[in-house]
Amino acid sequence: MSAQTEKPNIVSQVDHLLAQMTLEEKVGQMTQVDFTVIGVQEELNKGEFIDPTKLEDAVLRRHVGSIMNAPFTPKNKALPPATWCRMQESIQAVSARSRLKIPVLYGIDAIHGATYTQNATLFPQAISMAATFNPDLSFKAGEITAREIRASGIRWNFSPMLDIGRQPLWPRLWETYGEDVHLATVMGTRYIEGHQGADFSAADKGLTCLKHYVGYSLPFNGKDRTPAFIGERTLREYFLPTFAAGIKAGAPTVMVNSSEVDGIPGHANRHYLTTILREELGFKGFTVSDWEDIKRLYTRDKLAASEKEAVKIAVMAGVDMSMVPFDFSFYDILVELVKSGEVPIARIDEAVGRILTVKYQAGLFAPSNTPIAEEGNFATPEATAANRQAAHEAIILAKNGGHLLPLKKDAKILVTGPTANLLSVMNGGWTITWQGDAEQLYPKDKLTVVGALQKQSTGKVTYVGGKRFDDPIDIAKVIEEAKHHDVILLCLGEPPYTETVGNIPTLDLAPEQLALADAVLATGKPVILLTFGGRPRIITPIAEKAAAVLLGFLPGMEGGLAVADILYGDYNPDAKIPITYPRATNDIMMYDYKPIESYELNTYNPLYPFGHGLSYTTFETGNLRVDKTSIGLHENISVGVDVKNTGKLAGKETVLVYLNDAAASVTRPNKQLKAFKKIALEPGETQRLNFTLTPDDLSFIGLDLKRIVEPGDFNVMVGNQSVKFTVRP
Ligand code: BGC
Repeated sequence: MSAQTEKPNIVSQVDHLLAQMTLEEKVGQMTQVDFTVIGVQEELNKGEFIDPTKLEDAVLRRHVGSIMNAPFTPKNKALPPATWCRMQESIQAVSARSRLKIPVLYGIDAIHGATYTQNATLFPQAISMAATFNPDLSFKAGEITAREIRASGIRWNFSPMLDIGRQPLWPRLWETYGEDVHLATVMGTRYIEGHQGADFSAADKGLTCLKHYVGYSLPFNGKDRTPAFIGERTLREYFLPTFAAGIKAGAPTVMVNSSEVDGIPGHANRHYLTTILREELGFKGFTVSDWEDIKRLYTRDKLAASEKEAVKIAVMAGVDMSMVPFDFSFYDILVELVKSGEVPIARIDEAVGRILTVKYQAGLFAPSNTPIAEEGNFATPEATAANRQAAHEAIILAKNGGHLLPLKKDAKILVTGPTANLLSVMNGGWTITWQGDAEQLYPKDKLTVVGALQKQSTGKVTYVGGKRFDDPIDIAKVIEEAKHHDVILLCLGEPPYTETVGNIPTLDLAPEQLALADAVLATGKPVILLTFGGRPRIITPIAEKAAAVLLGFLPGMEGGLAVADILYGDYNPDAKIPITYPRATNDIMMYDYKPIESYELNTYNPLYPFGHGLSYTTFETGNLRVDKTSIGLHENISVGVDVKNTGKLAGKETVLVYLNDAAASVTRPNKQLKAFKKIALEPGETQRLNFTLTPDDLSFIGLDLKRIVEPGDFNVMVGNQSVKFTVRP
C-alpha cells in the first residue's frame, strides 16, 4: 500500500476507537445505504434532497458508515457542485453529532469523470482511453476526475474497473480497458496514481475502488451478471494481474464481483476474498459488496437458505461492507448473528478496523473535513483541453481507402445515421444518469458530430436523421440529398446502456441500420463509416464497401469535435483498437489466441486485429534487436527497435512489443503484449526505442498454479519483425 498506511498513529487511533464502540456501532460501519434511504421523496422535493429525519435515523440510530449514489438518486440526474457540497455537509454535520463522531464515507460511480455533477469533465470511457495507448492521459483522467468529485465534496470513486474485456457481447465491455492484461494494467495503474496522488487525503485527490473482484467480465452467455467458468490458471493469468497491480498502486477499496465463477458467487468466495486477496495479494483496505449482492445470495443464487445465512456466508468469506442498499436488514441480521455467536466479534473488528483505517487515511476525521465547493477548480479549460486530447487519441482510423481522408474543409458532406447527432451515444452509461440516455440533460455547449462538422466546415454539411436514436430515418431523402454532396458520413452503432439493460442477443446491427447502410452504399458516393458504442457491433459488409472507417467507441463529451478534427486533418489520428474486432457475431477470438485456435481449419480472421489503427502518415519499425541471445532464469533482457515516420506528416505511433514462449508445460498464447510506447515523430524522423523485459514478463501460471519462468526459446515480435532469445535452465 501507499504511504498512507505507514502513518503510525492511524493504527492506535483505530484501536482506540474500536475499543469504545458498541456492537451496533461496529456493524453500522459495515453498512452502506443508497441515497434514497436518506432522500426526500421525489414529489415532495422543494429544492432539498435530504430528509433530516431519515438521515438521523440512518446515521445516529443505525450508525451507517457509508452512503452511496446510485441509479435512482437524487432525482436520477447530475446536480451542481454546490448542491452536492451542501448535501455532503448535512451528512457530515449529523455524523459529527454521533457519539463517536465517525464520519460517513460517501461513494459514487465517477467512472469517466464526475458522472452525477453537472457540467463535469466527462472523458472517453475506459475502452476508448485504452485505445489511446497513452498512460499519461489515463493519469490525467484520474487526476481531473478526483479533483471534480472533490469539488462536489465526494471522496470515494467506484472506479477503475479492472475487469478484462474478453466477451464482446457483455454490456459492460466498454467499462474495461479492453482484452489485454498488460494494457489494462498500465492504464488502470496510471489512473489510480492520478486519482490518488501520493496521499489521497489531499484536497484534490480521492479514493479509488477496484472492481469487480474477480472474474465478472467473462459471462459465458454474454449477458450481465451471469455465470463465468474460469479455471484458476486462467483466472490468475488473465483476471487477477490488474487487481494485483491496483493494490500495489495503493487502491484502498475493492468491490466484489456481482456474479459467479465456477458455481461460487463472488460474495461467497472465501478463496478469492480472503486467501488470494489478503494472504497472497496483501490487500490491507476494505472490500465492499456490489449492489444488493449479499441479499441475493439468498433471493437470487439460492446459495443460502435465508437472508441470515447469506449475511453470514458473505461476511465470513471476507466482505467488509455491504451495499445493502435500500434498508437496514444487513445491519439487523449481522448484530443478531454476532449476539448468537454465529459470527465471531473478531471478524467484525477486522472489517471495521479496515474501514476506519481507510477513513483515517482519507483524512475524514481531520477538522477541515467539511467540503468546500471549489467551482473555480471544476471543468477548467485545461481539463477540457486534456479531455479533447484524450478524444483525439481515442478515435481509431481503421480504413482509409484511396486516401479519402482527410477531407477538405469545403467538402459537401451528407451526414446520416442514428449516432450522428447525439451526445449520449459518445458518452455511454454512467453519464449524468445511470444509463446515460437522458439526452435532454446533456450540456448545451458540447457538440455532436453534426454540430462539430457544421462549426468547422466552410462548405456544406447536411444532416438527414432523427432527433432520437430510434427515430426512423427517411431513406428516400438520404438518397436524394446524396446527389448534392461529395461524400456521405454514415454514423451507426449503439445507444447508451450499462448492466443488464444493455444485454443483446447478437452483435449484429439492428435491421434499420443495415437498411440505411445498404441505401447509402448504393448511391455510389464515397462513404465514411463512423461507429459509436460500447461493443464491436458487426460492420463487416459495410466496412468492406465503405471507403473509410472510423471506430469511435465512446470518446466522451469532446468526441464530436475530435471526430471533426480527424475528418478534416486538423488532428492526425493515432489510436489503436484495444480489442479484437470480430468479423462475424460468432467468430470470437482474442489476439492472444492459443495455437490450437489457428490449427488445421481453425483460423484467426478478425475484421480488425487488436492494435490496429492507421494514421495520415506512415511508420516503419526495423532493426529489432535483443541485447543478449541467452539469459538466466532471473535476468532481464533489453529489446531495441527503430521507428521511422516514413510519410509526409507529423504523427504519433505506438510501438507494441509482443512475446511468444516457443514451448511450455502449459499451452501459451501465440503472442502476448508485454510493453508499448507511444511517441511523436516528425516526417523522416527516426527514434530508437528501448524496452526491458523482466522475468515476470516471461512468466506464466504453471501446472501447480504458481507463476514460473521455464527455460527455452522465446520470440520477441514488433511490427513484422521477430527476434529470438533463449532462457537457460
Ligand atoms: C454496479 C457497480 C456500481 C454499483 C454502484 C452496481 O450495479 O455493478 O459497478 O459501482 O452498482 O452504483
